Amino acid sequence: MILPIVQYGDPVLRTRGKPVEQIDDQIRELAANMLETMHAASGVGLAAQQVGEALQLAVLDISPVEDRPSTLKIDGKNVPDAKSAMPLVLINPEVELQGETEVGIEGCLSFPEITGEVERAQSVWVRAQTLNGDMIELEAGGFLARAIQHEHDHLQGILFIDRMNSAAKAALASRLKRLQKETRRGIRHREALVAETTL
Ligand code: ZN
Repeated sequence: MILPIVQYGDPVLRTRGKPVEQIDDQIRELAANMLETMHAASGVGLAAQQVGEALQLAVLDISPVEDRPSTLKIDGKNVPDAKSAMPLVLINPEVELQGETEVGIEGCLSFPEITGEVERAQSVWVRAQTLNGDMIELEAGGFLARAIQHEHDHLQGILFIDRMNSAAKAALASRLKRLQKETRRGIRHREALVAETTL
């Protein structure tokens, strides 16, 4: 099922995700819906907050991206084509940043048509649970490392605009304000509808 994607201005995007205690049918269904939603929106990553659930759960699929290379090791083994390991479902991920940093362009499904340069570590080490409950360790580099950092930030309530430099943020300020306003108006409208139907 394709879920509505939460837009900037909704407080759930600023909420740190609770750890997933048990990987049950509900979590499996949420992950499947998040994958479907991400693919339908042509995104490469989606965090639970972006579908309104403040949980430590994110999905990724970088396979549509042609021009930005990635590297991947799973449990110490080199995966020659990182795309072959997609999609990834990361539950309760721990992320450590490694190596140098680099600047790259990012977008976010919660910020339609807004992109900006963000400085990120070139590689990351990750330990996470999979949908089977297994623990996996990943080492990712390049674009996948960037995507993982972006999603891991979402799980802490951190957004890519927080990582932009002040000039970039200033340039986006009026668009962000407008988006925030629209989102809040939408939330009030939905709340009013709920109030009406529960009278
Ligand atoms: Zn995002």
